[in-house]
Amino acid sequence: MSVDRKRLDALLKWYKQEVGKDLIAAIIVNREGLVMEAISGSSDNKAIDEEIVGGVSALVEPVLNRITKEFSSGAFGTGTFDTEEYRLIFCEAGPESIFVTVLDSMGMVDPVFPYAYLAAEKIARIFDGRTVSPVIPKIITGRAASQIERKIDKIQKLKIKSGEYAFKLVLGGDGSVGKTSMVHRFVEDIFHVDYKSTIGTSIMKKECKFEGLESKVRFVIWDLAGQSQFKRVRQTYVANAEAGILVFDVTRRETYDNVKLWYDETVKEAQGITLILVGNKIDLTDSRQVSKEEGEALANQLGLSYIETSAKTGENIEDAFKMLALNIIKIYVEAIEV
Ligand code: GDP
Ligand code: MG
Repeated sequence: MSVDRKRLDALLKWYKQEVGKDLIAAIIVNREGLVMEAISGSSDNKAIDEEIVGGVSALVEPVLNRITKEFSSGAFGTGTFDTEEYRLIFCEAGPESIFVTVLDSMGMVDPVFPYAYLAAEKIARIFDGRTVSPVIPKIITGRAASQIERKIDKIQKLKIKSGEYAFKLVLGGDGSVGKTSMVHRFVEDIFHVDYKSTIGTSIMKKECKFEGLESKVRFVIWDLAGQSQFKRVRQTYVANAEAGILVFDVTRRETYDNVKLWYDETVKEAQGITLILVGNKIDLTDSRQVSKEEGEALANQLGLSYIETSAKTGENIEDAFKMLALNIIKIYVEAIEV
């Protein structure tokens, strides 16, 4: 089967841009350690790319040999390996390939890990011939992650500290921007609906699967019916939420203008909440009033990641929730020597 090289290339370019200056190279290798696709962090020059990638892949091979057994049993998942010069992050990308990120020795694994993980998942999908958008939403900085220690010449498996995680997730944004539709699209048929009549809220639970991370992360999604004007109701709704999605409708500018108000109210009632900004209804291309650039600018201003979705077609819905989850759970990720 032929692989969609263009998509792989677009994905790696995006990855390089998001990871930034600490990236030495990103390499997709097969189980035998053969390079299938690669990009270097420092240049846009193919020849230099090849030189850097060549040097680094020689380094990757012996590590791969050491972990191949575990990879082939599907047990490895995600891990790191540090040399004097580099920090490597290995992520299984489906049954055929492994996605290797090479960082500068001074680089930090924690902030890059959610990107690497999400990219590996997309690579797996591309190899599988499924459609995938090459967009990796921007990582939210803010809460400090547990720093993954440098251990020279040791393979460390990344896993989530044991325990089950359930995060309360709330939605903010004007009426009819598509909040309920997004949630329903995300939970699809695997959901459980509960109803809190006192505050008119549906509560849905959905488990997020993270292959190779040996963890259970559950979102408990609270969806407030209608637009309650009562402050007390909204306080109860938002209180103790760990995750939140602020949504506006790209076809109605006033919903974009109101995002700031939703942001202020949400962070006031739920300190330490991890938020993302979503521009929804991108399927309605002809009636767009807010551009992607404007969405990104607002997200930057608020210090949030931005992603555009369509609850109607399903585009980027899963990614939006996944990114949000990864940004929360990276705090609980630890490295175990193997
Ligand atoms: P909420 O008030 O924010 O929960 O919005 P709803 O989920 O109830 O959606 C309001 C309306 O917008 C409904 O008629 C939905 O079918 C429609 N809608 C939601 N998302 C999309 C989308 O991505 N594209 C289009 N074309 N319509 C959408
Ligand atoms: Mg609704």
